[in-house]
Amino acid sequence: MSWLDLPEDSLFGVANLPYGVFEPEGGTPRAGVRIGDLVLDLAAALADPVFDRPDLNGFLAQGRARWSEVRASVRDLLTDPGHRPRIEPLLYPLDQVRLRLPFEVADYVDFYASENHATNLGRMFRPDSAPLTPNWKHLPIGYHGRSGTVVASGTEIVRPRGQRKAPDEAAPTFGASRRLDIEAEVGFVVGTGSALGTPIPVGGFAEHVFGVCLVNDWSARDLQAWEYVPLGPFLGKSFATSVSPWIVPLEALQHARVAPPERDPEPLPYLADDEKWGLDLRLEVRLNGHLVSRPPFSSMYWTPAQMLAHLTVNGASARTGDLYASGTVSGTERDEYGSFIELSWGGKTPVELPDGETRTFLEDGDEVRITAIAPGPDGDFIGFGEVTGRVTPALGD
Ligand code: MN
Repeated sequence: MSWLDLPEDSLFGVANLPYGVFEPEGGTPRAGVRIGDLVLDLAAALADPVFDRPDLNGFLAQGRARWSEVRASVRDLLTDPGHRPRIEPLLYPLDQVRLRLPFEVADYVDFYASENHATNLGRMFRPDSAPLTPNWKHLPIGYHGRSGTVVASGTEIVRPRGQRKAPDEAAPTFGASRRLDIEAEVGFVVGTGSALGTPIPVGGFAEHVFGVCLVNDWSARDLQAWEYVPLGPFLGKSFATSVSPWIVPLEALQHARVAPPERDPEPLPYLADDEKWGLDLRLEVRLNGHLVSRPPFSSMYWTPAQMLAHLTVNGASARTGDLYASGTVSGTERDEYGSFIELSWGGKTPVELPDGETRTFLEDGDEVRITAIAPGPDGDFIGFGEVTGRVTPALGD
Protein backbone atom coordinates (compact mmCIF):
# COMPACT_ATOMS: atom_id res chain seq x y z
CA MET A 1 0.00 0.00 0.00
CA SER A 2 1.17 3.49 -0.80
CA TRP A 3 1.43 6.19 1.86
CA LEU A 4 -0.47 8.30 -0.64
CA ASP A 5 -4.18 8.57 -0.05
CA LEU A 6 -5.31 6.73 -3.19
CA PRO A 7 -8.89 5.59 -3.80
CA GLU A 8 -9.14 1.82 -3.40
CA ASP A 9 -10.19 1.37 -7.04
CA SER A 10 -7.43 3.58 -8.44
CA LEU A 11 -6.17 2.27 -11.78
CA PHE A 12 -2.80 3.86 -11.01
CA GLY A 13 -1.75 2.29 -7.71
CA VAL A 14 1.65 0.78 -6.95
CA ALA A 15 0.83 -2.32 -9.03
CA ASN A 16 0.91 -0.17 -12.17
CA LEU A 17 3.53 2.63 -12.09
CA PRO A 18 3.63 3.55 -15.80
CA TYR A 19 6.33 5.82 -17.22
CA GLY A 20 5.90 9.02 -19.16
CA VAL A 21 7.49 12.38 -19.90
CA PHE A 22 6.01 15.50 -18.33
CA GLU A 23 6.68 19.20 -18.39
CA PRO A 24 5.90 21.10 -15.19
CA GLU A 25 4.95 24.75 -15.49
CA GLY A 26 8.12 26.72 -16.05
CA GLY A 27 10.25 23.57 -16.01
CA THR A 28 11.95 21.36 -18.56
CA PRO A 29 10.48 18.07 -19.80
CA ARG A 30 11.59 15.07 -17.77
CA ALA A 31 10.64 11.46 -17.04
CA GLY A 32 8.02 10.60 -14.48
CA VAL A 33 6.03 7.72 -13.04
CA ARG A 34 2.31 8.07 -12.55
CA ILE A 35 0.80 7.30 -9.14
CA GLY A 36 -2.90 8.10 -8.74
CA ASP A 37 -3.44 11.49 -10.36
CA LEU A 38 0.13 12.58 -9.63
CA VAL A 39 3.41 12.19 -11.44
CA LEU A 40 6.69 11.55 -9.64
CA ASP A 41 9.75 13.44 -10.88
CA LEU A 42 12.14 10.52 -11.37
CA ALA A 43 15.32 12.51 -11.96
CA ALA A 44 14.89 14.20 -8.60
CA ALA A 45 13.58 11.16 -6.73
CA LEU A 46 16.34 8.81 -7.91
CA ALA A 47 19.06 11.42 -8.49
CA ASP A 48 19.68 9.86 -11.90
CA PRO A 49 20.34 12.11 -14.92
CA VAL A 50 19.02 9.45 -17.33
CA PHE A 51 15.55 10.67 -16.33
CA ASP A 52 16.39 14.35 -16.72
CA ARG A 53 15.73 14.47 -20.46
CA PRO A 54 12.70 14.85 -22.71
CA ASP A 55 12.38 11.16 -23.62
CA LEU A 56 12.65 7.76 -21.96
CA ASN A 57 15.09 6.36 -24.54
CA GLY A 58 18.20 6.48 -22.34
CA PHE A 59 16.42 4.49 -19.66
CA LEU A 60 14.85 2.12 -22.21
CA ALA A 61 18.34 1.28 -23.50
CA GLN A 62 19.52 0.20 -20.05
CA GLY A 63 17.71 -3.13 -20.22
CA ARG A 64 15.55 -5.48 -18.25
CA ALA A 65 17.67 -5.75 -15.07
CA ARG A 66 17.77 -1.97 -14.66
CA TRP A 67 14.05 -1.62 -15.47
CA SER A 68 13.25 -4.05 -12.63
CA GLU A 69 15.61 -2.28 -10.26
CA VAL A 70 14.06 1.14 -10.91
CA ARG A 71 10.55 -0.25 -10.59
CA ALA A 72 11.43 -1.76 -7.20
CA SER A 73 13.03 1.52 -6.05
CA VAL A 74 10.00 3.59 -7.09
CA ARG A 75 7.69 1.14 -5.37
CA ASP A 76 9.74 1.43 -2.20
CA LEU A 77 9.74 5.23 -2.35
CA LEU A 78 5.94 5.27 -2.66
CA THR A 79 5.17 2.61 -0.04
CA ASP A 80 7.67 3.11 2.79
CA PRO A 81 6.32 6.04 4.84
CA GLY A 82 9.90 6.91 5.80
CA HIS A 83 10.41 8.34 2.29
CA ARG A 84 7.34 10.55 2.42
CA PRO A 85 8.97 13.83 3.57
CA ARG A 86 11.53 13.75 0.75
CA ILE A 87 9.26 12.34 -2.00
CA GLU A 88 6.01 14.22 -1.45
CA PRO A 89 7.39 17.55 -2.80
CA LEU A 90 8.50 15.72 -5.98
CA LEU A 91 4.92 14.76 -6.91
CA TYR A 92 3.10 16.99 -9.40
CA PRO A 93 -0.68 16.98 -9.90
CA LEU A 94 -1.40 15.80 -13.45
CA ASP A 95 -3.62 18.80 -14.16
CA GLN A 96 -0.62 21.08 -13.61
CA VAL A 97 1.75 19.44 -16.09
CA ARG A 98 1.87 18.88 -19.82
CA LEU A 99 2.32 15.28 -20.91
CA ARG A 100 4.58 14.74 -23.90
CA LEU A 101 5.38 11.98 -26.35
CA PRO A 102 7.07 9.58 -23.89
CA PHE A 103 9.86 8.33 -26.15
CA GLU A 104 11.59 9.23 -29.34
CA VAL A 105 10.11 6.79 -31.83
CA ALA A 106 12.78 4.94 -33.78
CA ASP A 107 11.11 2.67 -36.34
CA TYR A 108 7.37 2.15 -36.45
CA VAL A 109 5.67 -1.02 -37.64
CA ASP A 110 1.96 -1.74 -37.68
CA PHE A 111 0.59 -5.28 -37.70
CA TYR A 112 -2.81 -6.69 -38.63
CA ALA A 113 -3.14 -9.34 -35.93
CA SER A 114 -6.89 -9.47 -35.25
CA GLU A 115 -8.61 -12.25 -37.15
CA ASN A 116 -11.97 -10.51 -36.73
CA HIS A 117 -10.66 -7.20 -38.08
CA ALA A 118 -8.79 -8.82 -40.99
CA THR A 119 -11.89 -10.86 -41.87
CA ASN A 120 -14.17 -7.83 -41.71
CA LEU A 121 -11.88 -5.70 -43.88
CA GLY A 122 -11.28 -8.55 -46.30
CA ARG A 123 -15.05 -8.85 -46.80
CA MET A 124 -15.35 -5.12 -47.49
CA PHE A 125 -12.21 -4.48 -49.57
CA ARG A 126 -12.20 -7.78 -51.50
CA PRO A 127 -15.82 -9.00 -51.58
CA ASP A 128 -15.11 -11.50 -54.37
CA SER A 129 -12.36 -13.49 -52.64
CA ALA A 130 -11.78 -15.29 -49.35
CA PRO A 131 -11.76 -12.71 -46.51
CA LEU A 132 -8.38 -13.83 -45.14
CA THR A 133 -5.46 -13.90 -47.57
CA PRO A 134 -3.71 -17.32 -47.84
CA ASN A 135 -0.72 -16.09 -45.77
CA TRP A 136 -2.73 -14.64 -42.88
CA LYS A 137 -2.62 -17.64 -40.51
CA HIS A 138 1.02 -18.39 -41.32
CA LEU A 139 2.56 -15.06 -40.43
CA PRO A 140 1.65 -11.82 -38.66
CA ILE A 141 1.11 -9.42 -41.57
CA GLY A 142 2.48 -5.92 -41.08
CA TYR A 143 3.91 -2.86 -42.81
CA HIS A 144 6.55 -0.29 -41.97
CA GLY A 145 4.90 2.96 -40.99
CA ARG A 146 6.13 6.52 -40.52
CA SER A 147 7.76 7.12 -37.11
CA GLY A 148 8.09 10.87 -37.68
CA THR A 149 4.32 11.32 -37.57
CA VAL A 150 3.74 9.39 -34.36
CA VAL A 151 2.30 12.12 -32.13
CA ALA A 152 1.42 12.63 -28.48
CA SER A 153 -2.12 12.08 -27.28
CA GLY A 154 -4.10 15.29 -27.56
CA THR A 155 -2.42 16.43 -30.78
CA GLU A 156 -5.05 17.76 -33.19
CA ILE A 157 -5.49 15.66 -36.31
CA VAL A 158 -5.78 17.70 -39.50
CA ARG A 159 -8.03 15.88 -41.93
CA PRO A 160 -5.70 14.58 -44.64
CA ARG A 161 -6.06 15.35 -48.33
CA GLY A 162 -5.17 13.08 -51.17
CA GLN A 163 -6.38 11.06 -54.12
CA ARG A 164 -9.73 9.39 -53.72
CA LYS A 165 -11.54 7.14 -56.15
CA ALA A 166 -14.68 5.24 -55.30
CA PRO A 167 -15.14 1.96 -57.23
CA ASP A 168 -17.97 3.51 -59.27
CA GLU A 169 -15.98 6.62 -60.24
CA ALA A 170 -14.09 6.70 -63.53
CA ALA A 171 -11.09 8.71 -62.33
CA PRO A 172 -9.59 9.85 -59.04
CA THR A 173 -10.17 13.31 -57.61
CA PHE A 174 -8.03 15.27 -55.14
CA GLY A 175 -9.41 16.57 -51.88
CA ALA A 176 -10.08 16.07 -48.20
CA SER A 177 -10.65 12.51 -47.07
CA ARG A 178 -14.37 11.72 -46.81
CA ARG A 179 -13.77 8.49 -44.92
CA LEU A 180 -11.53 9.43 -42.01
CA ASP A 181 -11.38 6.62 -39.48
CA ILE A 182 -9.62 5.39 -36.36
CA GLU A 183 -7.93 2.11 -35.51
CA ALA A 184 -7.92 1.22 -31.80
CA GLU A 185 -4.62 -0.56 -31.26
CA VAL A 186 -2.08 -1.56 -28.64
CA GLY A 187 1.58 -0.56 -29.06
CA PHE A 188 4.75 -2.27 -27.86
CA VAL A 189 7.86 -0.24 -27.08
CA VAL A 190 11.27 -1.83 -27.66
CA GLY A 191 13.78 -1.09 -24.90
CA THR A 192 16.91 -2.91 -25.91
CA GLY A 193 17.56 -3.52 -29.57
CA SER A 194 19.25 -6.36 -31.43
CA ALA A 195 22.23 -6.70 -33.73
CA LEU A 196 21.77 -6.66 -37.50
CA GLY A 197 21.56 -10.27 -38.65
CA THR A 198 20.43 -11.66 -35.29
CA PRO A 199 16.70 -12.35 -34.95
CA ILE A 200 14.90 -12.00 -31.62
CA PRO A 201 13.20 -15.31 -30.82
CA VAL A 202 9.65 -15.47 -29.44
CA GLY A 203 11.22 -16.15 -26.03
CA GLY A 204 13.20 -12.89 -26.19
CA PHE A 205 10.10 -10.70 -26.02
CA ALA A 206 10.30 -9.77 -22.32
CA GLU A 207 14.05 -9.18 -22.57
CA HIS A 208 13.67 -6.62 -25.35
CA VAL A 209 10.24 -5.03 -24.90
CA PHE A 210 9.94 -2.45 -22.15
CA GLY A 211 6.23 -1.82 -22.08
CA VAL A 212 2.87 -1.22 -23.65
CA CYS A 213 0.85 1.85 -24.68
CA LEU A 214 -2.34 2.66 -26.56
CA VAL A 215 -2.28 3.64 -30.22
CA ASN A 216 -4.79 5.29 -32.54
CA ASP A 217 -3.77 4.57 -36.12
CA TRP A 218 -5.81 7.28 -37.89
CA SER A 219 -6.76 5.99 -41.33
CA ALA A 220 -8.19 7.68 -44.42
CA ARG A 221 -10.14 4.77 -45.91
CA ASP A 222 -10.77 6.40 -49.29
CA LEU A 223 -7.09 7.24 -49.80
CA GLN A 224 -6.17 3.77 -48.53
CA ALA A 225 -8.55 1.85 -50.79
CA TRP A 226 -7.23 3.56 -53.94
CA GLU A 227 -3.50 3.47 -53.16
CA TYR A 228 -2.89 0.19 -51.32
CA VAL A 229 -2.59 -2.24 -54.24
CA PRO A 230 -0.03 -3.81 -54.55
CA LEU A 231 2.36 -2.39 -51.91
CA GLY A 232 0.06 -1.76 -48.96
CA PRO A 233 -0.73 1.24 -46.72
CA PHE A 234 0.97 4.55 -47.55
CA LEU A 235 -0.54 8.07 -47.38
CA GLY A 236 -3.86 6.81 -46.05
CA LYS A 237 -2.08 6.06 -42.76
CA SER A 238 1.09 8.14 -42.56
CA PHE A 239 -0.42 11.55 -41.73
CA ALA A 240 -0.72 10.82 -37.98
CA THR A 241 -0.57 8.03 -35.42
CA SER A 242 -1.38 8.98 -31.82
CA VAL A 243 0.04 7.25 -28.74
CA SER A 244 -0.95 7.42 -25.07
CA PRO A 245 1.36 9.29 -22.69
CA TRP A 246 1.94 6.35 -20.31
CA ILE A 247 4.01 3.26 -21.02
CA VAL A 248 2.81 0.43 -18.78
CA PRO A 249 5.85 -1.73 -18.01
CA LEU A 250 5.59 -5.38 -18.95
CA GLU A 251 6.15 -6.27 -15.30
CA ALA A 252 2.83 -4.63 -14.42
CA LEU A 253 1.01 -6.94 -16.85
CA GLN A 254 1.86 -10.33 -15.35
CA HIS A 255 -1.75 -10.77 -14.17
CA ALA A 256 -3.09 -9.88 -17.62
CA ARG A 257 -1.36 -12.74 -19.44
CA VAL A 258 -3.70 -15.21 -21.12
CA ALA A 259 -3.37 -17.95 -23.69
CA PRO A 260 -4.00 -16.62 -27.21
CA PRO A 261 -6.75 -18.22 -29.33
CA GLU A 262 -6.16 -21.74 -30.71
CA ARG A 263 -3.82 -21.74 -33.75
CA ASP A 264 -4.92 -23.60 -36.80
CA PRO A 265 -2.77 -24.41 -38.66
CA GLU A 266 0.22 -24.66 -36.33
CA PRO A 267 2.63 -21.84 -37.27
CA LEU A 268 6.22 -22.55 -38.37
CA PRO A 269 8.63 -23.33 -35.50
CA TYR A 270 10.12 -19.81 -35.28
CA LEU A 271 6.62 -18.54 -34.43
CA ALA A 272 5.81 -21.21 -31.81
CA ASP A 273 4.58 -19.28 -28.78
CA ASP A 274 5.00 -21.45 -25.68
CA GLU A 275 5.13 -18.44 -23.39
CA LYS A 276 1.51 -17.44 -23.93
CA TRP A 277 1.87 -13.70 -24.35
CA GLY A 278 -1.79 -13.13 -25.06
CA LEU A 279 -2.94 -10.17 -22.96
CA ASP A 280 -6.33 -9.49 -21.39
CA LEU A 281 -6.44 -5.77 -22.17
CA ARG A 282 -9.95 -4.33 -22.34
CA LEU A 283 -10.15 -1.31 -24.59
CA GLU A 284 -12.91 1.26 -24.82
CA VAL A 285 -13.48 3.69 -27.67
CA ARG A 286 -15.43 6.91 -27.15
CA LEU A 287 -16.59 9.39 -29.76
CA ASN A 288 -17.35 12.84 -28.33
CA GLY A 289 -17.69 11.19 -24.93
CA HIS A 290 -20.06 8.40 -26.04
CA LEU A 291 -18.90 4.79 -25.65
CA VAL A 292 -19.05 3.19 -29.09
CA SER A 293 -16.97 0.02 -28.70
CA ARG A 294 -15.15 -2.28 -26.25
CA PRO A 295 -12.46 -4.13 -28.23
CA PRO A 296 -10.94 -7.12 -26.38
CA PHE A 297 -7.18 -7.51 -26.94
CA SER A 298 -7.35 -11.12 -25.65
CA SER A 299 -8.98 -12.08 -28.97
CA MET A 300 -5.86 -11.19 -31.01
CA TYR A 301 -4.66 -14.17 -33.08
CA TRP A 302 -0.95 -13.25 -33.02
CA THR A 303 0.82 -12.31 -29.78
CA PRO A 304 3.27 -9.40 -29.41
CA ALA A 305 6.05 -11.96 -28.86
CA GLN A 306 5.27 -13.54 -32.24
CA MET A 307 5.11 -10.12 -33.87
CA LEU A 308 8.62 -9.20 -32.66
CA ALA A 309 10.01 -12.60 -33.68
CA HIS A 310 8.52 -12.20 -37.14
CA LEU A 311 9.64 -8.58 -37.46
CA THR A 312 13.28 -9.60 -36.91
CA VAL A 313 13.39 -13.14 -38.35
CA ASN A 314 15.00 -11.93 -41.58
CA GLY A 315 17.87 -10.39 -39.61
CA ALA A 316 16.44 -6.87 -39.44
CA SER A 317 17.72 -5.25 -36.26
CA ALA A 318 15.51 -3.70 -33.59
CA ARG A 319 16.41 -0.38 -31.93
CA THR A 320 15.69 1.36 -28.66
CA GLY A 321 12.46 3.30 -29.19
CA ASP A 322 11.05 1.05 -31.89
CA LEU A 323 7.27 0.99 -31.72
CA TYR A 324 5.22 -1.82 -33.14
CA ALA A 325 1.45 -1.77 -32.97
CA SER A 326 -0.92 -4.72 -32.99
CA GLY A 327 -3.28 -3.62 -35.71
CA THR A 328 -6.92 -2.80 -35.04
CA VAL A 329 -8.31 -4.72 -32.10
CA SER A 330 -11.74 -6.11 -32.99
CA GLY A 331 -13.79 -8.72 -31.17
CA THR A 332 -16.48 -10.90 -32.70
CA GLU A 333 -19.42 -8.61 -31.88
CA ARG A 334 -20.31 -5.34 -33.55
CA ASP A 335 -19.87 -3.38 -30.30
CA GLU A 336 -16.34 -4.78 -30.07
CA TYR A 337 -15.06 -3.44 -33.40
CA GLY A 338 -12.07 -1.10 -33.20
CA SER A 339 -12.72 1.01 -36.31
CA PHE A 340 -15.64 2.93 -37.79
CA ILE A 341 -15.33 1.17 -41.12
CA GLU A 342 -16.35 -1.99 -39.23
CA LEU A 343 -18.82 -0.29 -36.86
CA SER A 344 -20.64 1.26 -39.85
CA TRP A 345 -19.88 -1.69 -42.16
CA GLY A 346 -18.19 0.34 -44.84
CA GLY A 347 -20.46 3.33 -44.26
CA LYS A 348 -23.69 1.36 -44.87
CA THR A 349 -25.06 1.22 -41.32
CA PRO A 350 -24.36 4.43 -39.37
CA VAL A 351 -23.44 4.24 -35.71
CA GLU A 352 -26.17 5.81 -33.60
CA LEU A 353 -24.99 7.96 -30.73
CA PRO A 354 -27.04 8.54 -27.56
CA ASP A 355 -27.48 12.23 -28.40
CA GLY A 356 -29.36 11.31 -31.59
CA GLU A 357 -26.43 11.99 -33.93
CA THR A 358 -25.13 9.32 -36.28
CA ARG A 359 -21.70 8.62 -37.74
CA THR A 360 -20.28 6.53 -40.50
CA PHE A 361 -16.82 8.13 -40.54
CA LEU A 362 -15.35 11.02 -38.52
CA GLU A 363 -16.56 14.59 -38.95
CA ASP A 364 -14.53 17.76 -38.30
CA GLY A 365 -14.58 18.55 -34.60
CA ASP A 366 -15.05 14.93 -33.52
CA GLU A 367 -12.92 13.80 -30.60
CA VAL A 368 -11.90 10.17 -30.21
CA ARG A 369 -10.73 8.78 -26.89
CA ILE A 370 -9.34 5.27 -26.44
CA THR A 371 -8.74 3.88 -22.95
CA ALA A 372 -7.89 0.44 -21.56
CA ILE A 373 -7.68 -1.50 -18.34
CA ALA A 374 -6.03 -4.82 -17.51
CA PRO A 375 -6.30 -7.22 -14.58
CA GLY A 376 -3.83 -6.46 -11.81
CA PRO A 377 -3.14 -8.36 -8.59
CA ASP A 378 -5.95 -9.29 -6.14
CA GLY A 379 -8.80 -8.84 -8.62
CA ASP A 380 -7.98 -5.13 -9.10
CA PHE A 381 -7.39 -3.41 -12.42
CA ILE A 382 -4.61 -1.26 -13.72
CA GLY A 383 -5.14 1.51 -16.28
CA PHE A 384 -3.42 2.65 -19.45
CA GLY A 385 -4.78 6.18 -19.36
CA GLU A 386 -5.99 7.42 -22.69
CA VAL A 387 -5.05 8.36 -26.21
CA THR A 388 -7.15 11.19 -27.59
CA GLY A 389 -7.30 13.30 -30.70
CA ARG A 390 -9.70 15.79 -32.27
CA VAL A 391 -10.24 16.15 -35.99
CA THR A 392 -9.74 19.61 -37.49
CA PRO A 393 -10.72 20.66 -41.03
CA ALA A 394 -8.46 19.87 -43.97
CA LEU A 395 -6.12 22.57 -45.25
CA GLY A 396 -8.03 24.99 -47.46
CA ASP A 397 -11.44 23.98 -46.06
MN1 MN B 1 -3.44 -0.02 -38.14
